[in-house]
Formats: sequence, structure tokens, C-alpha cells
Amino acid sequence: MAEFCTKCAPIMFGDNTPPDIDINKIFDTLNVGEYMPVICEGCCLAAIGKFENNTLLLAVPKSDGDRISWIDENTFYTQKPNI
Ligand SMILES: [Zn+2]
Repeated sequence: MAEFCTKCAPIMFGDNTPPDIDINKIFDTLNVGEYMPVICEGCCLAAIGKFENNTLLLAVPKSDGDRISWIDENTFYTQKPNI
């Protein structure tokens, strides 16, 4: 069963669809310095992390390989998923 994140679920299924991977809900369960690995089938979101000062960062694969980079929420939500 494919899973989709907060960004991709509304694109896939409509605006009121609750995401399988609820980014803010998962973020709330994390302590600073922790991250939760996830796999979004839409945007390939790989992990949700809580960094210093309760900063939310999202791990996404780089386009040039299979390494990931951590990006902030604004950057994440403005990148269009390939779905
Ligand atoms: Zn996604």
C-alpha cells in the first residue's frame, strides 16, 4: 500500500484526504535531535526531523543521486512532487 505525505495526499486524493504520513503529527512526537524515517510515494520524502530550536527539516533525495539533503518546510512545500 502506497503512502503519501501531507504535501502529496491532497494532490493524489483531494484536499480533505488525511495523509498517511502526517508531517506535523510526526514532528510533534519527536524530541530535538530525533528523526523519523518515512517513505512517501509521491515526493520521495525520506525522513522528518526535529533539529535545534524545534526546527522542522525534511529529508529528500537529491536529484543527482541517492544521497539525501535536509530542507526546510517552505522549500519542501514549494517543490512540486513528480506524481
Ligand atoms: Zn510526499
